Amino acid sequence: MSLHRRYGLTRVINARGPFTPIGVSRSSGETAAVVAEALSHHFLLDELQDRASESISRFTGAEAGTVTHCAAAGITLAVAAAMTGRSAERAAALPVTEGMADRVVLPAGHAVNYGQSILQAVRLSGATPELAGTEAGCPVADLERSLASTHVCCLLLVASRLTRGEPVDLAAAVSAAHRRGVPAIVDGAAQDLRIPDLLGTGADIVVVSGQKYLASPTAGLVVGRRGLVEAVRAQEKGIGRAMKASKEAILGVMAAIDERERSDRDGWQREQDRKVATFLARVDGLAGVAARAVPDPTGLPFGRVHLRLDGRDARLSAEALAVALRSGSPQIHVMEHGLSSGDIVFELVQLSEDEVRAVGRRLTDLLD
Ligand SMILES: *Cc1c(COP(=O)(O)O)cnc(C)c1O
Repeated sequence: MSLHRRYGLTRVINARGPFTPIGVSRSSGETAAVVAEALSHHFLLDELQDRASESISRFTGAEAGTVTHCAAAGITLAVAAAMTGRSAERAAALPVTEGMADRVVLPAGHAVNYGQSILQAVRLSGATPELAGTEAGCPVADLERSLASTHVCCLLLVASRLTRGEPVDLAAAVSAAHRRGVPAIVDGAAQDLRIPDLLGTGADIVVVSGQKYLASPTAGLVVGRRGLVEAVRAQEKGIGRAMKASKEAILGVMAAIDERERSDRDGWQREQDRKVATFLARVDGLAGVAARAVPDPTGLPFGRVHLRLDGRDARLSAEALAVALRSGSPQIHVMEHGLSSGDIVFELVQLSEDEVRAVGRRLTDLLD
């Protein structure tokens, strides 16, 4: 019996991307099998983290890496690491930061909310966030001016739907942090496909989620300079206790990395293109609907389908259509950021071909 049936759970088709409230992503059978096996054995957790570090280094080119409970935990622990270094005493003292530099600078437009304010993720470590520039933008000179001597690190994001204002040039911002003698931490949560690019900006630490496109169990990968990664691991006996990765998560990350390394990237991209093409063919000709494929704005290697609903000819507004899709069974969840301007966006990475066709049928029922 399926879990949905056994526990009376709502079925969901996820055309919204790796979104936490609907279960983010689906692991492959191979990763799921490793996780299931891991659950019934003992391991030395330090050894598991050592092996995970080797695996992450091979995968990303970074000096080292470690696995945390999730990316949000990774942000908190990376900031903690910048404050304490490898000192067990300092790690044990947090979130009390007496005697430590504890100011974290981030561009004002990077004070995002991904379900939690990133400022809270910083504060959980005991550090105090300080915003540089304005929401309209943060020129590198503003960032550098804000990074006075008592600062401990600079936190940056990849420009996305969540960030605001002019995109910040990451490489230039990282250089500014380095000129001020502090490390730069990049939150690249959904950017596991681009970790080497982000490390290429000179960032000292890059934090990504394992459960987004990498499709591991819930996990954060903290990747970068060995000293800082070791300092993140030093938090295990402090605030990191509540943010630790489980044995099954660590092995699940390693299995997902193995699978990604073996996978044929071009073949994967072709599969994504095929789903987009299937979708476009399905909705072609619906009254008042203009569909087009749009590349991922952050540079990830796949596109999304944007449906523009014409107010006069379409049977429903974009907002009403999103509600109707979510009201059926299975529920169909879509990206909602364009709704107010009449655009409904479908990300198909998590969908099987069958599900793409099911969404197409539902759209035809609702709009034809
Ligand atoms: C998803 C996300 C996070 C949080 O990731 P978790 O692994 O769910 O903790 C942090 N930052 C950004 C930009 C995100 O998109």
